[in-house]
Amino acid sequence: MTQEDLLRRSMAAVWHPCTQMKRHERFPLLAIRRGEGLWLESTDGRRFMDAVSSWWTNLFGHCNPDINAAITDQLGQLEHAMLAGFTHAPVVELSERLSALTGHALGHAFYASDGASATEIALKMSQHFWRNLGRPEKNRYLCLEDAYHGETVGALAVTDVSIFRDAYAPLVRPARTVPSPDARRAEPGESALDVAVRAAAALEATLEAHHTEIAAFIVEPLVQGAAGMVMHDPEYLRRARGLCDRYEVHLIADEIAVGFGRTGSFFAHEQAGIRPDLLCLSKGITGGYLPLSCVLCTDTIYQAFYDDRLARAFLHSHSYTGNALACRAALAVLDLFARDQVLERNRDRARWLDEAFAPRLAERPVTAVRQRGMILAFDVLDAPDDFAQQMFARGLDEQILVRPIGNTVYLMPPYIFDRAQAEAMAQATCRALDRTKA
Ligand SMILES: *Cc1c(COP(=O)(O)O)cnc(C)c1O
Repeated sequence: MTQEDLLRRSMAAVWHPCTQMKRHERFPLLAIRRGEGLWLESTDGRRFMDAVSSWWTNLFGHCNPDINAAITDQLGQLEHAMLAGFTHAPVVELSERLSALTGHALGHAFYASDGASATEIALKMSQHFWRNLGRPEKNRYLCLEDAYHGETVGALAVTDVSIFRDAYAPLVRPARTVPSPDARRAEPGESALDVAVRAAAALEATLEAHHTEIAAFIVEPLVQGAAGMVMHDPEYLRRARGLCDRYEVHLIADEIAVGFGRTGSFFAHEQAGIRPDLLCLSKGITGGYLPLSCVLCTDTIYQAFYDDRLARAFLHSHSYTGNALACRAALAVLDLFARDQVLERNRDRARWLDEAFAPRLAERPVTAVRQRGMILAFDVLDAPDDFAQQMFARGLDEQILVRPIGNTVYLMPPYIFDRAQAEAMAQATCRALDRTKA
C-alpha cells in the first residue's frame, strides 16, 4: 500500500478516536510503519520522537526487546483462556506482584481490558460493597472538577469534561464535583499546599452534608492528566484519606495515567503516604503493548462479597479478563523496573528534562511551568483557538510527537531517554512552539 492509498482508505474505513474526522481534510493522518525505542517512523520515512508515550502507555520504548521476548515466549504456551473457572501462572504472578507493590494493602486484583472499564469496576465494587453491608443508599460518587476517568457511560458519571459528557447527558447520572486542588489556583502569596488545604476543606463540607449517600470519592492522585496535567500538593490526598475514613466513603485512586513510575514513585499515592481502598491501573501496565487494566482492592472490600449467596458476588466480567499475553507483558514491565532500577534513574531523567526546558521556557510566552517526575507541562499564553492542532503539526515538522491539551503543552516520554535526547525534545518542542505562535 502506498502512503496516499493507506491514508485514503483509513479515512474511508477507520473511525479514529477522539477526532472530528473532517479536520483530517486540513491535518492529514500519518501512517506509521514501525517503532523503535523513542522513535516512530512513518511510511514516507519521516521519524518522530514519541514524547507522549503514545497516549501515556509506552514506558520502555517501541519494540522493546525484553517485552517482545516475554510475549513471544508466552505465545508458545498459552495466548488466552477464560478466567471464570480457570487460572494461569501469568495472572497469579502479576496479581501477587502488584499486591506486593502496595505493601499487600491491596491484595485482590480484578482485571479488564481498558482504563474506563477499570473505573466502572471500581464504581460498581464500591456501591455493591455498601449494598452487601445493608447500606444501599450509599450509591453516589464524588469526583474533582475537571476529573477524567474514562468515557464509557458509567465512567462519564465521574468525568467532568463537558466536551466528552454533554452530548450524552441524558444517559449519565453525574457525580457531585468538589473543587480541584489545582496548584495554579494559588492566590498571590499562597502556596500549592494552601490550595490543597482549601480544597480539602471544601471536600470536608461536601462529605459532611452528603456522606450518607456517597459510596466513593474518586481522584487522579497528584496529576489530573486529561484536564491538562493539572498538578496538586500531596497534602490533598492525605486529607482526603482522613476524611474518607471519617465519613465512611471509599477512596478510589485512579492511577491509570499516573501509576507505574510516572510521577516519580511507583504509585503516585505513595507520595502522600496513604493507600486508597481501590486502585485503578491500566495504560503503562503492559508498557503500551496490549490492552489490560486492573482494579486492586482491600481485603475488607473483598470479604464483603465472599459468601454462599451468588447475588453477593461481584458478577462482572469481560471476555478478555486476565489475558495471558497481556499479563506476561505486564510481568516483563515489572521485571524491567527492577532490573534497570528505573525509579532511581528516572530521577536523573526528570532533572535532565528540567535542565533542558527551564532556560528555553523562561524566554518564551508561557506560564505555569510544572513538573512531577516524568511529566513536564506548561501553559501557552495567548494561544489561538486551534493551537493544539497547529502545535501537533509543527511538532511533526520538528520530528517530535506532542499533542497539547487546549493551551497546555506537556511531555510524558518513555523512561529510556538520555540527557542529549532530553535536550533534543526541548529544542524540537520550542521550535514547534515558536512556529505555532508565528
Ligand atoms: C486514559 C485514562 C482513563 C481511561 O482509560 P482508557 O483505557 O482510555 O479507557 C481513565 N482515567 C485516567 C486518569 C486516564 O488517564
